[in-house]
Amino acid sequence: MNNVITRFAPSPTGNLHIGGVRTALYNYLIAKKYHGKFLLRIEDTDRERSKEEYVQDILQSLQWLNITWDQLVFQSQRSDLYINHLKILEEKGSVYKCFCEKDRLEALRKDQMEKKLPIKYDKKCLLNPAPNHGSFVYRLKNERHEKIIIKDNVLGEVTFDPKEFDDLIIRRSDGTFTYNYVVVIDDIDLKITHVIRGVDHLNNTAKQILLYEALGKSLPEFAHIPLIMGSDGKRLSKRHGAASLLEYKTAGFLPEALNNFLARIGWGYKDEEIFTLDELLQKFELNSINPSHGIFNYEKLLWLNGHYLSKKNPAEIISLIKEQLGVAIGDVPASLIELIKPRSKTLQELYDQLLFYVNDEITIQDDAKKMIPPEMIKPAQDLIEEFKANSEWNKQMLEQSFQKVITKHSLKLVQLAQFVRAAVTGKKASPGIFEIIEILGKDRTIRRIESATHFGME
Ligand code: GLU
Repeated sequence: MNNVITRFAPSPTGNLHIGGVRTALYNYLIAKKYHGKFLLRIEDTDRERSKEEYVQDILQSLQWLNITWDQLVFQSQRSDLYINHLKILEEKGSVYKCFCEKDRLEALRKDQMEKKLPIKYDKKCLLNPAPNHGSFVYRLKNERHEKIIIKDNVLGEVTFDPKEFDDLIIRRSDGTFTYNYVVVIDDIDLKITHVIRGVDHLNNTAKQILLYEALGKSLPEFAHIPLIMGSDGKRLSKRHGAASLLEYKTAGFLPEALNNFLARIGWGYKDEEIFTLDELLQKFELNSINPSHGIFNYEKLLWLNGHYLSKKNPAEIISLIKEQLGVAIGDVPASLIELIKPRSKTLQELYDQLLFYVNDEITIQDDAKKMIPPEMIKPAQDLIEEFKANSEWNKQMLEQSFQKVITKHSLKLVQLAQFVRAAVTGKKASPGIFEIIEILGKDRTIRRIESATHFGME
């Protein structure tokens, strides 16, 4: 395919969410796969609902995922283009002014509802125009009789009866243009070759085809991608997890994992699960998108994130924690990060497990408190004495010290290990206790066991 140009066209009326990002990703992949261009078009014609903060959210989200655009376009800066095309349509006789007032349209609607007729404008201003007065809208004449056929790259052929459609309003009485109109003008002007968007726009596509025809322009390729459902089969919403993409960033997910995860919702390649952006560029095809709804599987996202996290080295992890979670953790030994990495699915989980090292003071969590019972105080004190009597501090020495104390007090290793774990990490679970305290160091370990013995006596 040559000269491929795709676009992602979000309305900045809210934060960018998972479904939107997947649409952006698919558009990006198709453009880049065929060495074409990917455009970002901010559909900000609704001045009341569009907000600068949402524009920023969209830009930052895509940048974070490395979904880079070749051109950025704001619809709010393109009014001249829309006005010029309206003139063209007027000259061609494809549009007419409609002066009907709200009350008349309301009454018409009510009447049609009562008679169980399709709700449609009755073309009064086209068929019996009254002398012009007051405000008006522009409508596109829909005089088509043959079926409208969308040859969709995902859904196959979809047919609409043109009688279902009104004479589309393309300019409102306040002078603003409607979505279906500006989208077509922009897609033509920007030479978009592939319109890839959610299946919820299928009806709009049929209406937009009427506009392409009125302007005498050829149609782009269409691909309507299925919606993303929660695991309960309902349309994805806040209930199913973080709503906006940047919430995943601050929760410690990696961009590689999100791209992989999003690409796989509704698309597959053999039985493979892991795809880097480069691999997606090789393997992704529009016609291999699954036409049925995709399911948002949070467990799978966690699994993928764990996979990509395991590929990062300690220095990368430290800078990602800083960048995504906004915390500087200073010097943490690489060995500790390597130890914790396999036990973490997200940066946040990893960071939580580093806190015992990063912070000077720890708080013993409620569920770990029962691991420091009074009867363990004496053995713990003996362990401290063993540590103090020894000039070394390594795994072998630690194992021997533990062994001496459990033999003396007839304990199981797990009892002493759990006490020390709660004392030094504040938690019920951690990587191997010898590794942990070896890294934490002698002084800090002794201090924490000591304060836990005081706690155990309370
Ligand atoms: N602004 C529309 C939306 O956010 C764009 C739809 C399209 O891609 O044409 O849903």
